[in-house]
Amino acid sequence: MTWRATVLTLFPGMFPGPLGTSLAGRGMERGLWSLEARDIRASATDRHRTVDDTPFGGGAGMVLRPDVVDAACAAAMSEGDTRPLVFLTPRGTPLRQPLVRELASGPGAVLLCGRYEGVDQRVVEARGMIEVSVGDYVLSGGELGAMVLLDACVRLIPGVMGAAESAEEESFSDNLLEYPHYTRPAEWRGLRVPEVLLSGHHAEVARWRRAQSEAVTRERRPDLLSTEQRQGPAPRAPLHSAASPA
Ligand code: SAM
Repeated sequence: MTWRATVLTLFPGMFPGPLGTSLAGRGMERGLWSLEARDIRASATDRHRTVDDTPFGGGAGMVLRPDVVDAACAAAMSEGDTRPLVFLTPRGTPLRQPLVRELASGPGAVLLCGRYEGVDQRVVEARGMIEVSVGDYVLSGGELGAMVLLDACVRLIPGVMGAAESAEEESFSDNLLEYPHYTRPAEWRGLRVPEVLLSGHHAEVARWRRAQSEAVTRERRPDLLSTEQRQGPAPRAPLHSAASPA
C-alpha cells in the first residue's frame, strides 16, 4: 500500500523540491509513497481568491481564514480517510523520532503549511490537527517544515531504504545519539582511526560504539537521557487507526 502525503500550501510549486531526489525521490518513483501538493487558494470563494484577513485584537500580519483552510482540508480528504492532519507551527510539539515512526507506520499524513502570522486556531482545533514544530526558530512558512517531516517519515517506509542504509542503530533509535563513523584511509593527516574498529572483534566494536553513543549523548543531549524522554511521551490517542482505506 502506498503511503500518501498531501500538503496544503499557498506555494504548491515548492513541491516535491528536494523530496523528488535521492532516497525519497526513488521511493516515490517506485510507488512506495505519493505526494500531492494542493493550493489552499483554490478553496477561496471570493473574486480575489482571498485566503487571509487581519487578526482580531490587532497586531501586525495576516491570519489564514478558518473557512478557507477548512474547505481545503475537506477537498483534500475523501470520506474514510484516516490520515492524521498535521499543522506545522512553532507552537507545536517538537518533532521527534517516535512521532516520525508513528506517522511512517500509518497510511500517510495531510500536512497544513501556515504562512504570515499563522492559521485561525478554530480550524486547527475543529479538525483535531496535531500541531508539530520542527525546531525552536521561526520559518517564513510551513513548507520547509513539511519537507523535513516528510523526509524523516518516508525513509522509514519499508523498501525506501536499501540494505546499505539502516534505521536500526542511528541517532534517536534508543534515545541515544549515534557513535562516530570512520572509513578509509585508516590514517589521514596523521590521525588514526580508533584501533578497536580495525580489530575485527565484533563484540568489542559493539561495546565501544555503545560507550561512544552514551558519552556523546551525555555531553551534547543530556535531555535525551532523562526519565521522561526514556519513557516516551504521555499516552494519547493513536494518530491513525490500524485499518486504513485501500
Ligand atoms: N506568528 C507565528 C509564531 O510566532 O508562532 C509564526 C508564523 S511563521 C512566520 C508562518 C508559518 O511558518 C507558521 O504558521 C508555520 O506554518 C510555519 N513555521 C514557522 N516556524 C515553524 C517551525 N519552527 N515549525 C513548524 N512550522 C513553522
